[in-house]
Amino acid sequence: MNSLISRILRSCLLVIVSSATTAVFALPTNVTVTPPDSARFFVGQKFDLRVEGKGTGPFLATIMIDGVPQTFTSGTQNSTFTDGITSPGFGGFNLRGYSNSQPGVHTIVATFTDASGTVSVTSKFKINLGVDSVGRERSDDRDEGKKVRNIIIMLGDGMGVAHRTAARLVKYGVTAGDPNGYLAMDQFPGTGMITTHSLNSIITDSAPGMSSYTTGSHAKNGQEGVYPANMIDPFFYPRVEYLSEYLHRTLGKSLGLVTTADVEDATPAANAVHTGDRNRGTGISDQYLDESDAANTRNFGTGLAVLMGGGRRWFLPAVQFGSSRSAASDYAALPADLVSAWRIPATAAGGADPNRDLLQDFKNAGFGYVDTATGLSSVGTPDKLLGLFGYGNMNVALDKLAKRRNTLLPGTTSFAVDDYHAPDQPMLDEMTDVALRVLNKNQKGFVLMVEGAHIDKQSHLMDADRVIDETIEFDNAVAAARRFADKAGDTLIIIVSDHECAGFSLIGALTGGIDNLKNLPADNATLDPNVQPERQKVVGVYDAAGFPKYTIAADGYPQTFDINGKILIGYGANADRYEGWLTKPLPVRDSLLPSAIKTELATKGYPGQPIERSENQFGYYIRGQAAGKEQAVHTASDIPISAYSSGSRSYEHFFGMQQNTDVFFKLLKLAVGNDREDRGR
Ligand SMILES: [Zn+2]
Repeated sequence: MNSLISRILRSCLLVIVSSATTAVFALPTNVTVTPPDSARFFVGQKFDLRVEGKGTGPFLATIMIDGVPQTFTSGTQNSTFTDGITSPGFGGFNLRGYSNSQPGVHTIVATFTDASGTVSVTSKFKINLGVDSVGRERSDDRDEGKKVRNIIIMLGDGMGVAHRTAARLVKYGVTAGDPNGYLAMDQFPGTGMITTHSLNSIITDSAPGMSSYTTGSHAKNGQEGVYPANMIDPFFYPRVEYLSEYLHRTLGKSLGLVTTADVEDATPAANAVHTGDRNRGTGISDQYLDESDAANTRNFGTGLAVLMGGGRRWFLPAVQFGSSRSAASDYAALPADLVSAWRIPATAAGGADPNRDLLQDFKNAGFGYVDTATGLSSVGTPDKLLGLFGYGNMNVALDKLAKRRNTLLPGTTSFAVDDYHAPDQPMLDEMTDVALRVLNKNQKGFVLMVEGAHIDKQSHLMDADRVIDETIEFDNAVAAARRFADKAGDTLIIIVSDHECAGFSLIGALTGGIDNLKNLPADNATLDPNVQPERQKVVGVYDAAGFPKYTIAADGYPQTFDINGKILIGYGANADRYEGWLTKPLPVRDSLLPSAIKTELATKGYPGQPIERSENQFGYYIRGQAAGKEQAVHTASDIPISAYSSGSRSYEHFFGMQQNTDVFFKLLKLAVGNDREDRGR
């Protein structure tokens, strides 16, 4: 918060109006106006304004936009805990559901008054029509009047350049410097670079990472679809309208969300759920349905028609096995002015309900339901579809494939998917195919977000083979999306990441052979710099790396990663670990699982952190740089974007350098085209 406030203080004109007898330090402090200075919005995009400050009540506030006084829709007049203030002494005033259709820069002047005096804050926001933040006016004259009907956002979580390179090298290999083949995402014609920063840090987490693409605004780490505020309930924070909500309201489009993570996780939620706390799984899952506009009024909501991934734990009443529902991770009934301004029906306003049978409520709202790959393959084409294939995060490709191949990984005695209570899970491309079939029933079009979640999660855990298999799985989903785009037409696909994870790096390849590696004596775990670990000696760099060649099985994935000359991965943003270079038998047990299953996994020997891995007795110790962290961390590296479009050259908008929030304006501009008649409902 401090960095946000200092940014606002730096960038805003502060006018202090106070009686001469009042000491300056007694004036209200922490006075801010939301949205943050220099926020950008698409024409007509809804957002909430809030003026808050800290002092001695009663409080008063005023707000003007372009010199015109506005009326707050709610606020507190004192310094107690009314209006959901977390910290004693804060007061806040809200103007909910504002929008502006006049392109250009607009000025907010707000005042905040307590018993000691008044502080005035000025800030600006911009109504944007497709000019990117690097200053280039993007023209789509070539496609005058042409609209993109369907938008598919393929998000490889944590996927940087090296993740893509590793997947390509493993799947296709290289001969005398020439790649033997290219990934589906390599074959997209529009490629650019994206900065990934959040509102309060150069290094983002997945919540602002995704929501920058879906709101056009930066958010604070851990927050999605809202601006920061001092309020008790994070679901009450000032909202900003999502891409999905704008396109559902104005053009009647649907939303689909497909992920290999728990569906409550930040990336899927940052397309549809407004919360200042990404960890509130009960409320997040409830809001998916409650603000889906199941009755298709187009007054509000996302038009959610497909939701697939893990996370069944949030859909089961708290008393049932595998449930994680609780009042603590839910939200109280939304404030009346928020409900009114965002045109949310009273029945969708929420309220803590840990014993809700959310699964049944989805079915009652018209969603078909499947919980296995087998069920998914025979589901047909329902109008809406909920697929929950695990209790928490789904398993990674490597562990799903072991079960499908009916071949235990070396060093294991059971299949991870069985131990996770989710023996029959679909691959991401299978989920993507069905999602596209269902969404395509809406002739008005759709937004689909597909997330390869474990590219990030396994990078955090420094489990290279699981990362690379997962990236190949993600690329298969990209291929599925492209097949759809070519058939359906008028479809734009972008491939992005929210941030890079772990400083993932291809450092070389194994020398001396895999059998030699397996038989090396135990490494000395001391940190004596004069003793070179055996497993460092086998890292072949430069010429010694040569051209690794993997055998690809009939299912399209490597038969095994443990080959002679296997690619070795290092991590520039690493945590402490023992590295043995062999495929790790058991995945680190997932943090997003019901506690009952986590306990079972612990007793079965699944490690809780990378440093606890069972093969550590023959790995060598590598000291991480991420201070105080048990896992590798996100980095501030730019990430690549690749774009493809059928029926137009919309992909050309994504060339060059851009920031993450620019992508939102490009997507919306392409979706609404030049036809203003569809706007402004
Ligand atoms: Zn991450």
